Amino acid sequence: MADYQLFIGGEYVDAESGETFTTTDPATEQPIGEVAKADRVDAQKAIAAARTAFDEGPWPNMSGEERAGYLDKLADLLEANAERFAEAEARDSGGTIKKATFADVPGGAGALRWFARMARERPQVEQLEGSPFPPSENYVRYEPYGVCTGIVPFNFPLLMACWKLGPALAAGNTSVIKPASYTSITALMLGELAQEADLPPGVLNVIAGPGGTAGEELAANESVDKVAFTGSTEVGRRIMQLASGTVKPVTLELGGKSANIVLDDADLDIAAAAVLFGTFFHNGQVCESGTRALVHKSIYDEFLSLLVDRAGKIVIGSQLDFNSDLGPLVARSQADTVRRYVALGREEVGEPVCGGSEPEGLADGLVTENFYRPTIFAGVSNEARIAQEEIFGPVLCVIPFETDDEAVAIANASIYGLGGGVQSGNVERAQAIADRLQTGTVWINDYHMISPERPFGGYKQSGIGRELGTAGFDIYRQAKHVHTNPSTGRDGYMHLAALSGNI
Ligand code: NAD
Repeated sequence: MADYQLFIGGEYVDAESGETFTTTDPATEQPIGEVAKADRVDAQKAIAAARTAFDEGPWPNMSGEERAGYLDKLADLLEANAERFAEAEARDSGGTIKKATFADVPGGAGALRWFARMARERPQVEQLEGSPFPPSENYVRYEPYGVCTGIVPFNFPLLMACWKLGPALAAGNTSVIKPASYTSITALMLGELAQEADLPPGVLNVIAGPGGTAGEELAANESVDKVAFTGSTEVGRRIMQLASGTVKPVTLELGGKSANIVLDDADLDIAAAAVLFGTFFHNGQVCESGTRALVHKSIYDEFLSLLVDRAGKIVIGSQLDFNSDLGPLVARSQADTVRRYVALGREEVGEPVCGGSEPEGLADGLVTENFYRPTIFAGVSNEARIAQEEIFGPVLCVIPFETDDEAVAIANASIYGLGGGVQSGNVERAQAIADRLQTGTVWINDYHMISPERPFGGYKQSGIGRELGTAGFDIYRQAKHVHTNPSTGRDGYMHLAALSGNI
């Protein structure tokens, strides 16, 4: 029996094949446990369980209030188990215990509560005023799609799972979630909470397994009605293709290369904090990281030395230590990607002004190759590959500019458009720039502030649709318009008669 089993139809089960894979702590490369490895057959089982729960179960027919009660209960249970979830998340992903404790667990519970509120407050039926065809009456019903699958990335496994299952369930759909293989365990643990909350079997299913088999099934299967995917732009394109077979709606949250613009009137202390936190939080393994800092030429030298000075003080160590600002990257392969991009940066730009290697002097037992120092390349051209391609590691490109127009042009010269920042002492000037940025979120004198109440998503190749906010709930429902002619006599027949002629 696997240590972490698949959660299908309300029960924990092994994969049909009996296969497992080992999940490890990336700081030490020590095994954490064996995870059941779902393939297409297990994905089909999970989809079938969700299908039955939707077609025959009470879930889609419950009131919003009833569904909200379950989601609030799940949030309560997540909070009651906060320490256990935070530790598992940090150990499995390499993200710090600080991040897991203050962002992942409360963020997940917060999202569940927000969507519970949406289920309560957003109308399921809306009577429409007036009529274009009197005496007809018109109303719109907002109905769930059915089975919604959610495929999530390695960087925020618990949070992303909650962002997917929360709105799906709140709107009356049933759900199958698949986390990334490096970081499967906290999403699988959500099944325990579902059992304790007495969620009807099949409403929530969680499977772990490879994207190429289990993931593809979740995107392509004809019994699936909607797919939500968060991950790389490359896999996002594949998801669209797979979903097109049965014309499923897709929500895609994809990659980014966001610009954080530092104007000449910025408070440099605050701006440095926004740039460093905006880039290096979670080792840059955040989709909307501000990995391109556009800095006004008049403050460039002073600001750069501030960045370098502070970057050197970032504490790297075990992710389970509350004093660590950064732990390891999620896996050796991700650290290798960072090393490759830093080598490319050395060719394209020259020596980085800080970082550019693994940290020295880590505690015994920590695998140095899986850690990387915050790295800053200065004087980067926006055309360089390190400024255009998503590295997903602790690497910042600093790019100089002279005018606000130039900053906007550089920021927008990217295939992506997910996040971004403007650091300025003049809020009106900053907002004027924000309004011109082709991106889904802009933080002024801040960074990374995401909350369930506000929409989040990408422009251009950073995605389709929005998660969170009211938009992130509505995207899980479809509108049905019902037009009723209340008259059975000739007076109500006149529109038909007028338009249909002799038909
Ligand atoms: P990934 O695209 O490699 O994998 C994401 C998920 O898709 C995993 O669960 C994986 O198993 C699955 N998958 C892989 N191939 C698949 C296929 N052919 N069919 C179906 N599923 C498949 O991404 P990752 O490496 O886990 O995460 C990093 C990426 O995620 C970055 O590009 C980052 O920008 C992006 N991301 C975006 C957001 C956002 O909100 N826009 C948030 C977090 C991460």
